[in-house]
Amino acid sequence: MPEPATTSPVTVRVVPLAAGECLNLAALTMRGAAWRVQAYPAGFALLLHPSGPVLLDTGYGPQVPRLMRRWPGVLYGLITPVRLAAGGTAAAQLARMRLDVRSINTVIVSHLHADHVGDLRAFPAARFVLDGAAYPPLRGLRGLRAVRRAFLPELLPPDFESRCDPLPFASAPAWLAPFAEAADVFADGSVWAVRVPGHAPGMVALLVREAAAGEDGSEWTLLAADAAWNVRALREGGEVHPLARIAFFDVEQERRSRGQLRDWLARHPRARVIVSHDLPETRPVSL
Ligand SMILES: [Zn+2]
Repeated sequence: MPEPATTSPVTVRVVPLAAGECLNLAALTMRGAAWRVQAYPAGFALLLHPSGPVLLDTGYGPQVPRLMRRWPGVLYGLITPVRLAAGGTAAAQLARMRLDVRSINTVIVSHLHADHVGDLRAFPAARFVLDGAAYPPLRGLRGLRAVRRAFLPELLPPDFESRCDPLPFASAPAWLAPFAEAADVFADGSVWAVRVPGHAPGMVALLVREAAAGEDGSEWTLLAADAAWNVRALREGGEVHPLARIAFFDVEQERRSRGQLRDWLARHPRARVIVSHDLPETRPVSL
């Protein structure tokens, strides 16, 4: 009798990167931390999918410091000052890896805050894949009302809307519980997006299968975007300072989303966790 065909699952390598950093008060990002200024990387990720390189977000781009020198961006810069070294943008870093910006056909956008979409204009061949709920509440916001949402519309390319593809959310497989819905981004089971709104409208986190084996989650990397300022807070349920909640789009949604991620992590304790503004965990995870 012939052996049943076995297909090994598609895996994707995650390369965590950062383009620039912002300064913030540590005490705002974690309850109980010191009242001192700390630098936080503007993380993004290169996903090496068999179909080609893909980005999750871009970090800051060259336009961000420029916009922060004039009204109303100057207000954004006062609240979270930005540092971006020459050659520190996503496009420049990819060029050093011999990846042309035109080879990036997909940028998955976790949410539309300026530190996540700061270099979108540098990728002219890319489609932007995001939750359909991310853009509508921000569309048309200008000036102070936009800055209030950490949104700088000038960062979006002029043809942004025609290049957006909504994530294909559907019923999630059981292992993704407590998430009832998820989007199988490449339709091959390698990258799943789950909705974690609250910090910003339509924010998504990704689960990326990096290795072929494991039932405790060790094959998965969770890219949790801004669901927490640091990995420990996400794993252990640490809270931000109440003042920092003012910046959330929806406080109740934020709490619920963070709880769902924590719940998933408790069921898959060996998954690697990456949040945008903290150093990425490395394998193996020490428990
Ligand atoms: Zn954010």
